Amino acid sequence: MNTQHKTDKSEVILTGDRATGPLHLGHYVGSLKQRVALQAHHEQTILVADMQGLTDNALHPQKVSSNILNVVADYLAVGIDPSATTICLQSQLPALAELTMYYSNLVTISRLERNPTVKSEIQNKGFERSIPAGFLTYPISQAADITGFNATLVPVGDDQLPMLEQTNEIVRKINALAGRNVLNECQPLLSKAPRLPSTDGKNKMSKSMGNTINLGASEKEITAAVKSMYTDPHHVRIEDPGKIEGNVVFTYLDAFHSDESYVQQLKQHYQRGGLGDGVTKRILEECLQEMLRPIRQKRAVYLNDKAQLIDILKAGSQVSREKTDKVLFDIKDIFGLNIF
Ligand code: ATP
Ligand code: MG
Repeated sequence: MNTQHKTDKSEVILTGDRATGPLHLGHYVGSLKQRVALQAHHEQTILVADMQGLTDNALHPQKVSSNILNVVADYLAVGIDPSATTICLQSQLPALAELTMYYSNLVTISRLERNPTVKSEIQNKGFERSIPAGFLTYPISQAADITGFNATLVPVGDDQLPMLEQTNEIVRKINALAGRNVLNECQPLLSKAPRLPSTDGKNKMSKSMGNTINLGASEKEITAAVKSMYTDPHHVRIEDPGKIEGNVVFTYLDAFHSDESYVQQLKQHYQRGGLGDGVTKRILEECLQEMLRPIRQKRAVYLNDKAQLIDILKAGSQVSREKTDKVLFDIKDIFGLNIF
């Protein structure tokens, strides 16, 4: 799949986030920044995926329900503008659940079991053989989300590439059944940091792994997270040459520092020797503190007015219901079910 996509024409953009926790730096650099940049020129919808959040949290659903408005506040705090981007709630769009049912007949269990992202999530969550059916099939529900808006472009992290492959397989089957192009194939839009690692460098930063630096993190939390960051364990004395690969401080500087040539100079200095981890961490900390301070402040203001957040979600869900109902009608037509 071509992951480099030019966005010089008007695209239909659909993307979203599971309501399983507040959003973090991985979301910011992996997808949110692109959404902010794209919203003025394209038709963009962002979906708060509460139903998908339940696929591994149904026995403690408050984890999902209590995070819906947090996620909306995060969107607004980073600059998503509800007058330019539609923000909607997945569970308010029944057409998506119906589409999931129709598409389920086009996907085999073995295909679902081969999805590499789902496979590693099953392992991380320790499901073994007790995998909720909803969890195994969430790529189908995600295909329903994307095609429900007939999206052409999906700004995501690289863990989502298998979901987009799955979506396009379904699109091709539907179009073949219809004998014409009813649904668009979608393209992923990856950022320069498509998989931000956690501070220990071991995993992808993820809400469900509890290894995040949240967009609403306090100054103290940011300081502690940077202090604990994994660097080069063999870079013991300042004068020792250091390694950049796998050094989380440099991964984050690449992702978040605005001055690329300065970061390049730091890297060369570090590799030569003579640059201590204390200094690189201080530079990164300053950069993160500066970036997150206004986001944290705005987020707190938005969370103080929950009624406004609910109004935004309600309005966006209403607009989205009309769009997704229309796609559902077209899909039911293909199966010959619009008989009255
Ligand atoms: P969960 O652990 O509940 O799955 P998550 O932290 O993985 O949560 P999602 O809601 O699954 O977040 O992901 C929303 C979007 O953010 C997706 O496009 C995903 O690819 C992107 N994303 C999530 N984590 C990262 C990351 N560490 N780096 C880059 N992109 C990310
Ligand atoms: Mg995820």
